[in-house]
Amino acid sequence: MESRTAEDKALVKKAYDFAMKAHEGQLRKSGEPYFIHCFETAKILAGLKMYPVTITAGLLHDSIEDGVATEDEIRKEFGDEVLFLVNGVTKLGKVKYQGVERHIESLRKFLVAVAQDVRVLIIKLADRLHNMRTLEYVRPDKQKRIALETLEVYAPLADRLSIRKLARELEDLSFKYIHPKEYKEMVEILKTKKEETLPRLEKFIKAIKKALAEDGMTNFTTDYRQKGVYSLYRKFKTKGSDIEKIYDILAARICVETVADCYKVLGIIHSKWRPVPGKIKDYIALPKPNGYRSIHTTVFSGDGSIVEVQIRTNSMHYVSEYGIASHLTYKKSGSKHIGGDNDESWFTQFLPKIVNYSNTSTNKTEGVPKWIKDLGELPKNIKTSEDKDGFIEDLKADFFNERIFVLTPKGEVVDLPRGSKILDFAYAIHSDVGDHTSGAKINGKMVALDTMIHNGDIVQIITKDASKPSAKWLGIVSTTMAKRHINNYLEKQEKMVRKIK
Ligand code: MN
Repeated sequence: MESRTAEDKALVKKAYDFAMKAHEGQLRKSGEPYFIHCFETAKILAGLKMYPVTITAGLLHDSIEDGVATEDEIRKEFGDEVLFLVNGVTKLGKVKYQGVERHIESLRKFLVAVAQDVRVLIIKLADRLHNMRTLEYVRPDKQKRIALETLEVYAPLADRLSIRKLARELEDLSFKYIHPKEYKEMVEILKTKKEETLPRLEKFIKAIKKALAEDGMTNFTTDYRQKGVYSLYRKFKTKGSDIEKIYDILAARICVETVADCYKVLGIIHSKWRPVPGKIKDYIALPKPNGYRSIHTTVFSGDGSIVEVQIRTNSMHYVSEYGIASHLTYKKSGSKHIGGDNDESWFTQFLPKIVNYSNTSTNKTEGVPKWIKDLGELPKNIKTSEDKDGFIEDLKADFFNERIFVLTPKGEVVDLPRGSKILDFAYAIHSDVGDHTSGAKINGKMVALDTMIHNGDIVQIITKDASKPSAKWLGIVSTTMAKRHINNYLEKQEKMVRKIK
């Protein structure tokens, strides 16, 4: 394992050097050296705890297209895998967004291009995020187009892959350029609301801590999260622009170790604070289609306010932030959960060495190293050799070779295991849709319910009230979600039949 780490260090270090040379003398519209863009892209990937190969490809992603490097050089220096990723990102950049009306067609092309390796998409998302962060330097007419493309294509994909960390920032940045006036309004509301509610929320969190401690719970952390600007805007519109009806601008969050503890915390909270009826959502027992898991409840906090509380395990929290990317990261074996703030990725171990390297070789990165300094602090947390040895060897892209991306007629993206059938797709949309599926079209053609769907297909489900699940369906579907819903339905039916008898 050690040798692998050393090898990986060398790989990223080499890519850093290579990219700097490949873009030597080039400037971005912001006036910064072009290399900064490569560096920032890799930095975002490192923040997602990607494998070194992905970080390497992030550093090199523009070195052929915009820099002076050749395919042969990259293959020779970094191998076929890195070259494949770099070419994939370049190709993806050429899939042009054609405006909302051709949204589905561009998404489709996009997904087909991405299909071979989801790492390509993650690099592209990181690339886009840095471009969005520096969008102010781009011509105004281009700003709008890029922002719209980000909001219509990239942010929903990041969300679909439940990389909320990226999705949130992509949404907020695009929103700012597409609807500047509304953006300002929402930022203002967030600010006012935060000033108004934060002191009360902090008090409430203290009370929760006390209540949990009184019940003998010690192994938990508390925090709060603030709603994103765009996410607030969306909710604002659905709630008829009544800000008083939005209770989750700030939400308390409690993370524990086990699922059992989640329910224990819920019980303790409900016994102390009255829940708002109809506001309890158990996404642990019934995860959202994108895999999100957490318990949400809204309670009367006792001081006249209403507070949303989110309860989840540490690993659920990690996955909710990093989503599909969390499957591509280094994980510790023997550790119950993946990630978490103190769970060091392998990557952080060698960052300080890159700092040294960049500091001695060039001044171009001046002003940037704060990120590295921040991360440079982290390796202290790796205390035992077990921590170091515990990294699981290989999860890589295999996981993603098993997934397909399918579209609804409205252009929503659904990801499913390879081999999924029409019925799996229907249940992935909603249990009600699944339960009443009577027919379906793939790319406009009628198909049977047991038809296998393929990457990039546009699938339309036709429902009828009279259609109902049958035992036969269990033999068709392969996803657990579909199986569970069908079983639930059949069990209910059976009970009803027995009652009638
Ligand atoms: Mn780029």
